[in-house]
Amino acid sequence: IAKQSGKNRYHFFDTAQDNASKTLGQSIGDISSALGKCEFVLHYQPKVNMRTGEVIGVEALIRWQHPVRGLIPPLEFLPAIEGHAVSLELGEWVIDTALTQISQWQKIGVNLAISVNISAYQLQQVNFTTRLAGLLAVHPEVPPHYLELEILETSALHDISQVSTTMNTCHKLGVCFALDDFGTGYSSLTYLKRLPAYLIKIDQSFVRDMLEDADDLAIVEGVVGLAKVFRRDVIAEGVETIAHGVALLQLGCVLAQGYGIARPMPSSDIPEWVSNWKADDSWQVNKG
Ligand code: C2E
Ligand code: MG
Ligand code: MG
Ligand code: MG
Repeated sequence: IAKQSGKNRYHFFDTAQDNASKTLGQSIGDISSALGKCEFVLHYQPKVNMRTGEVIGVEALIRWQHPVRGLIPPLEFLPAIEGHAVSLELGEWVIDTALTQISQWQKIGVNLAISVNISAYQLQQVNFTTRLAGLLAVHPEVPPHYLELEILETSALHDISQVSTTMNTCHKLGVCFALDDFGTGYSSLTYLKRLPAYLIKIDQSFVRDMLEDADDLAIVEGVVGLAKVFRRDVIAEGVETIAHGVALLQLGCVLAQGYGIARPMPSSDIPEWVSNWKADDSWQVNKG
């Protein structure tokens, strides 16, 4: 069910790949100097329970606050550095910043888990767990289960036994895992069974079209069913409208994230958003 492959395939035939490799050397240098100048920032997007009205946590999404180009989204700079040392440095900066944020919010009475995206390359480092333990040790005030790691379903495909070992060791540290963009890779039920991820995130491409496209609706329903069989939680990404929420609730998916609930926002906006948010009336148990 590799829905995006049609779109990505064109990259082999146009010059995007070429240009990317030409500017690669430059990007790596640019990003490591941007890191030194503290030009990166995390924005946070709420994840909610539509049924209970609870905010269950937020996802940290990196942006590059470029002095000239403005706020640059992650997919415009992360692919160029994937597989290079600087991506590991940036990845650690993200975890460290998220841990600091958890602790700052806790000081003002806002108890929120933060999920952080981990690249395949980062997860495959043999010292990943040791480095993570080191970062947690720097923030002893943060309960480790407030940190969640989102890994792409496809990250696990390279070496399932190494990845599941890493995940199990991190799990012992108290950190939880989510499988991101679920449905876009070649998910095998064996992987789902072997990976200790408590949460499955249904890819936004299926959710976005589920009201118009019967196949996407069937995929969403299928993933919700899988999650139930494997006793995992399931969250829908890309919930853009109230109607998406209603349809998801009918399928038994109560957790949601998307522009229809909130866009990613700076950390300073989160406390007020959390205290003001209310689930939509049409999402209540006795309706829909
Ligand atoms: P993701 O982890 O699947 O994150 C969800 C992306 O979808 C975010 O884009 C978010 O802003 C966007 N989004 C959320 N709700 C909606 C919606 O209702 N409609 C639409 N159209 N989009 C929605 P963003 O921030 O541009 O991030 C893109 C991807 O970049 C992320 O996908 C993640 O794979 C990667 N990424 C972001 N931050 C990091 C990071 O710190 N480290 C790593 N390794 N990857 C990151
Ligand atoms: Mg994610
Ligand atoms: Mg995703
Ligand atoms: Mg994605």
